[in-house]
Amino acid sequence: MTLQNLHTATRAVHAGEDFDYPTGDVNPPIHMSTVYRQAPGSDVFSHREYDPSTGFVYTRWGNPTLRLFEQKLAALEGTDDAIAFASGMAATTGLLLGTLSQGDHLVLSNVCYAGIAEYVRHQLPKFGISASPVDTSDLAAVEAAIRPKTRLIFVDTPANPILRVSDIAAIAKIAHAHNASLAVDSTWASPIGTNPVEWGADYVMHSVSKYIGGHGDILGGALAGPADKIIPLRSAAGIYLGDGMAPELAWLAARSLHTLPLRMRAHEAGATALAQFLESHPKVSRVLYPGLESHPQHDVAKKQMRNFSGMMAVRMKDGEAAAKRLLENLSFVLPVVSLGKTKTLAYWLSTDQLQQNAFCMEGNELAKYTDLVGDGAVRISVGIEDPADIVADFEQALDRI
Ligand SMILES: *Cc1c(COP(=O)(O)O)cnc(C)c1O
Repeated sequence: MTLQNLHTATRAVHAGEDFDYPTGDVNPPIHMSTVYRQAPGSDVFSHREYDPSTGFVYTRWGNPTLRLFEQKLAALEGTDDAIAFASGMAATTGLLLGTLSQGDHLVLSNVCYAGIAEYVRHQLPKFGISASPVDTSDLAAVEAAIRPKTRLIFVDTPANPILRVSDIAAIAKIAHAHNASLAVDSTWASPIGTNPVEWGADYVMHSVSKYIGGHGDILGGALAGPADKIIPLRSAAGIYLGDGMAPELAWLAARSLHTLPLRMRAHEAGATALAQFLESHPKVSRVLYPGLESHPQHDVAKKQMRNFSGMMAVRMKDGEAAAKRLLENLSFVLPVVSLGKTKTLAYWLSTDQLQQNAFCMEGNELAKYTDLVGDGAVRISVGIEDPADIVADFEQALDRI
């Protein structure tokens, strides 16, 4: 039986685990070594002379525990290879600095992870790289944003915090017609929900700190893709920038991947129950969840998501004041930021704050955004608790507003 032919849940457990230690371990150890003995006659000094198939040299270039995680993630994304980074931001900045040069142009989702929007706006111009943030759910807008020097389109789907879904296959076609690559921040979909490379993307980015780590205890990131994209990036980003994941965390991340298919099923079940409950609640005016028919891009979501994940945004009829009271009233649901962990989290995301620091939209784009969430949204990351209890906590909290 070859691994590629096995189902997702089986690959999640077994990929990367065909090791054979003299001690007979059935679980991998954590490889805590910065250097490795090289084969006799091999005296590699620059990684430019290094052939990874001959073994390990220095942990910044590669480490067996990182390889375990990278191979498992690649098996779940259906890609040749993956690179583990210290965080999602390290993976993103590694991708941008590793693929773009002075004078190049980037097209970016205008609703995306705030840290990425801020980096592109405030740091990339220092390197002579320009960017056009656009609504990537609007294919005509993506096409119109392309310039002769556009080398990369970076799409976040579903995107924070309005869960905007972009059509990966259609944007891949646009990118490739213009000699550009497509990268997808697939953190919210997880490798269980969407495999962007299957739809034509060239790079997949994950914040491992979210669903992949899954328990809110690991900071990490990853890039996955075909070998011809990932091998050059391993040098340009991972090895020279030195922003790799630590072996202890790679071990935890690989262990977490065993249960990712199970966890994503539970996240989706809880989110579906909660989204349906909230959508019919009189104190709620809008629920944005890709699995709901009312979601503006539900058809695209249905096409490219096998699992709708656990993220949603909720607009309260009475806006911020009601949202803040809702958060205070919750019992076991935690009013904290971040997402993708076993515990359900809810957080207020003010439109003014996000627009001022990250998205900086104007005119029609700002109007489209506020039309969905008004002065802000309660972003909910539904955990893996029992769906009935999650719904009950929101019900009692809404009752007491
Ligand atoms: C959290 C997150 C990031 C950044 O990841 P870190 O691990 O915090 O650096 C990027 N994209 C999305 C969609 C995220 O949710």
